[in-house]
Amino acid sequence: MLKSTILKSTYEEIYRRWDEATPVPFDCGRICGAACCMTDGGQTMGIYLLPGEEKVHDKKDPWLTWSMDEAQDYDFPEAWRGKVPFVSCRGPAHCKRDKRPIQCRTFPLRPYLAQDGTLLMIYDQDDLPYACPLIENETQLSEDFIRASYDNWEILITDPLIRDIVRMDSQQMIEVTWVPRPQTD
Ligand code: SF4
Ligand code: SF4
Repeated sequence: MLKSTILKSTYEEIYRRWDEATPVPFDCGRICGAACCMTDGGQTMGIYLLPGEEKVHDKKDPWLTWSMDEAQDYDFPEAWRGKVPFVSCRGPAHCKRDKRPIQCRTFPLRPYLAQDGTLLMIYDQDDLPYACPLIENETQLSEDFIRASYDNWEILITDPLIRDIVRMDSQQMIEVTWVPRPQTD
């Protein structure tokens, strides 16, 4: 398993912050059939956990299926050495919302590290196997969600391995749509 500097209690706090802030004030899964939880063939999604994120999960919990991938066999940063947990869920009807992984919580935003090291939140622009209406329309996301995403990723990238993968992904992006942090009142 990959070493992580993020404590279990910190991951719990990060999960809690995202629990309290949804991207939009309605169930956006109803406008797209929960596209980000399904592949084209209607199969459920598989998700990599971040280093240490497994600390907040119980592998015996049957709503997720676990497998372990060797980091060196996949497109992970050089410093990633060891097993990376890959989990598959059983779709929205079985989702344990308070335990959904960070990849599910941060979407449709993702972190981006600018060349000077500044963290920005951007719309996810991966070559996704589905269309997210929030991204396609660059829908205005809730301020609470944007703020929670900044706050959480600022903590997450203090872990060198997480910073590495955010930096690696950022370097592969050519054009990004940046979502500024809302001003505080
Ligand atoms: S985040 Fe996008 S793809 Fe996912 S449920 Fe909402 S609108 Fe659909
Ligand atoms: S864990 Fe939940 S939110 Fe994440 S892909 Fe599965 S059903 Fe969707």
